[in-house]
Amino acid sequence: MAILDKLFGGGDSGDTAPPAPKYTHVKIHPQVDNGIPPTAPGFAGGTLTCKCSSNPVKVEVGAQTAHNHVCGCTKCWKPEGAIFSQIAVVGRDQVKVTENGDKLDIVDASAAIQRHACRDCGVHMYGRIENTGHPFHGLDFVHTELSDKTGWAAPEFAAFVSSIIESGVSPDRMDEIRGRLSELGLTPYDCLSPPLMDLIATHVAKQNGALA
Ligand SMILES: [Zn+2]
Ligand SMILES: [Zn+2]
Repeated sequence: MAILDKLFGGGDSGDTAPPAPKYTHVKIHPQVDNGIPPTAPGFAGGTLTCKCSSNPVKVEVGAQTAHNHVCGCTKCWKPEGAIFSQIAVVGRDQVKVTENGDKLDIVDASAAIQRHACRDCGVHMYGRIENTGHPFHGLDFVHTELSDKTGWAAPEFAAFVSSIIESGVSPDRMDEIRGRLSELGLTPYDCLSPPLMDLIATHVAKQNGALA
């Protein structure tokens, strides 16, 4: 099989090599810049740890995450120097603070997503939606890079890409940034991905009676 793949290119058209990546100098986020680690089948979660060298906050996530993506909004926590965050969702019943939860503060209690952050290192440990009418109620937002395990759901797209300008990225860089995201297979959107936008719209339509 491997030999046949080598002889015949392994694909349907064999003679067209993918174009060489042009934008490898553009850094997006440490979790994607050197290739995206694959999702492990049967992966069942792990422990997120904040960046404090002593008494770190620990949060146990008891399941694989979904809809992982890089996000350009100004609200999500980003590691030092990154222009995007990486964020995924998981059922809120799967998220448990197990150590040093007394160090957690809510960043902005009026925001739809209440981000619980470590007061000492600033890392957001989980984001929770308390409004039961919100389309994503029941899902918590987590940064799986805070776990030392591999096999978490791989990022699938890039959300709120234009918003990076609001955190000071020059608009002149948007072509290369969108180019790099596309090269990585992270389709850039200036909102959420179509499946998530459809989910929100469906929720709204059911609330206002446009859909049964
Ligand atoms: Zn901390
Ligand atoms: Zn965000």
